[in-house]
Amino acid sequence: MSTVIEEAPLGHDARGWFTGRDPQAPERPFAAGGNLSHHRPHRPADLASDRAHVGRLTGTEPSTWHFMQQVHGPEVGTIHSRTPAGAQLRDVDALVTTEADRPLLVQVADCVPILLAADGAVGAVHAGRRGVVLGIIDAAIAALERLGVATERIVAAIGPAIGGCCYELPIDERDRSLASLPDEVATAATATTDWGSPSLDLGAAAVAQLTAAGATVGSRVEACTWCDPDDRWFSHRADPTAGRQVGMVLRRASA
Ligand SMILES: [Zn+2]
Repeated sequence: MSTVIEEAPLGHDARGWFTGRDPQAPERPFAAGGNLSHHRPHRPADLASDRAHVGRLTGTEPSTWHFMQQVHGPEVGTIHSRTPAGAQLRDVDALVTTEADRPLLVQVADCVPILLAADGAVGAVHAGRRGVVLGIIDAAIAALERLGVATERIVAAIGPAIGGCCYELPIDERDRSLASLPDEVATAATATTDWGSPSLDLGAAAVAQLTAAGATVGSRVEACTWCDPDDRWFSHRADPTAGRQVGMVLRRASA
């Protein structure tokens, strides 16, 4: 299997990764070749083996992964010491924790996966168009602050998402989405597709929001999930039956 997996440099005591898809794997009618979501059409054996593969590469146990049931909203969930290992949180689009060895996962296929790390805390964020507009990134940063983190110590890693090159939207719909955002975020998000129509650059919007909040963007996967020439990523817009890749972050237990 040659599923993409990239380590995201986060510093502090955190480790993070972004996964992708195996370009050689057939995707229809079942999502395979790196799909990690049981909400997509899949064969259980494929899902188990893809999860085990990522578990081996990351040194994590898939049964302990904390997924979210994402709803494109502004709510943040917190994993506490008493939260059962592997618990899935409903109706949230970001997770934060100060606990060590608690892998936090965000599932995506075009939306922006963001991993956050600071002294003694980590977070994972699902930032699609609605999430960016509703302020999920600011909400995740505020949740980390409540855990005792100083915002200027937060390092963010931004994973693969659909680019401004391909995320076409009718101009009135795009401008409605941008209307509530600060000027610098709206300007960053305003883009044009490769074929000359209005589009959104969600990754650039995320960079602008993180920077405006006072966090440091340490890295960004420069790829478009739709038009990547090597077909390394799942893209919901390119294929509504597509699987889901993940961003994963955890605090390492101190050695
Ligand atoms: Zn593109």
